[in-house]
Amino acid sequence: MENLNNKVALVTGGSRGIGKGIVLALAAEGVHVAVNYQHSSDEAEEICKKIKDNGGKALAVQADVSEEAEVRKMIEKVKNELGGIDILVNNAGIAKKQNVEEVSLEDFDKTIKVNLRSGFLVTQEVLPYMRGKNWGRILMISSVAAQTGGVVGVDYATSKAGQLGMMRYYAKNLAEEGITANAIAPALIDTDMVAGLGGVKPEIIPVKRFGKSEEVANLALSILKNGYITGQTFNINGGMQPS
Ligand code: NAP
Repeated sequence: MENLNNKVALVTGGSRGIGKGIVLALAAEGVHVAVNYQHSSDEAEEICKKIKDNGGKALAVQADVSEEAEVRKMIEKVKNELGGIDILVNNAGIAKKQNVEEVSLEDFDKTIKVNLRSGFLVTQEVLPYMRGKNWGRILMISSVAAQTGGVVGVDYATSKAGQLGMMRYYAKNLAEEGITANAIAPALIDTDMVAGLGGVKPEIIPVKRFGKSEEVANLALSILKNGYITGQTFNINGGMQPS
C-alpha cells in the first residue's frame, strides 16, 4: 500500500459526518488536509485544531462547492497554504426526502448542482496539480441510491448515479497519468443527513444498524492507498444489495 504521508488532500463537506471521518483518517496517515465546509465553521475549525494539536497540518476552507467562483478561490487558498492537491474527496452533498410528486424542478436543479455538478467543478480545478505530479486520487462519495433508487428522492438518486459516470470517465482518461478515480456507495450511515431524513429506520438494513462514518473512512483509506484500483464503485451497505 502506498504511503500518503505529506500528501495534500481536499475533502469537500469535511466538517461533519462521512467527510469528517475521512478527514480524520487521512490526517492520521500524515496527510495535510483541507477541510471544506459551507456553514459549519466552528466544526471545521475544531477538526483542524484537533489535527494540529496532534502534530498534523490542516486548513478549514469555506466554499459553496456548487459555485464556480467560490471553488476557484478555495483551490487557490489550499494551494497557497498547504500545496497543490494530490487527493480529492468529492463528498459534500444534500438530501431532502420527498415523494415523487413533491420534487419540483427547483429541487431537482439544486440537488444536481450541489451533489453532482460540484464534483465536476472541483475536479477540473484540481486536475492540473495532479497531472503536474503524475499522481492523483479522486474519490466520489456516491450512494446505494445510485443503484437501487434509495429512500430520498428522484433528484438525489439521479445526482448519485451521475457521480458514477463522472468517476468512470475520469478513471478511463487519467489512468496513464497515475491518477485514479473511484467511488464509494454507502447505504445509511449514522450522520446528520440520515437524522434529517426522518422516519428512516435501521431495520431496513439487513445488518439492522446504520453504518458508521469511521467504517466508510476506513474503506476510503484503503482505496486511496492503492494505485492499482481505478474506475470502481465500492459498496458499503450493511447487506442492502443493489438489485
Ligand atoms: P451531512 O452529515 O449532512 O454532511 C454534509 C456535509 O456536506 C457537511 O460538511 C456540509 O457542510 C457539506 N455541504 C453541503 N452542501 C455543501 C455545499 N454546497 N458546499 C460545501 N459543502 C457542503 O452528510 P453525510 O451523511 O456525511 O453525507 C456526506 C456524503 O455522503 C453526501 O454526498 C451524501 O450524499 C453521501 N451519502 C451519505 C449517506 C448517509 O447515509 N449518510 C449514504 C450514502 C451517501 P456544512 O457542515 O458547512 O453544512
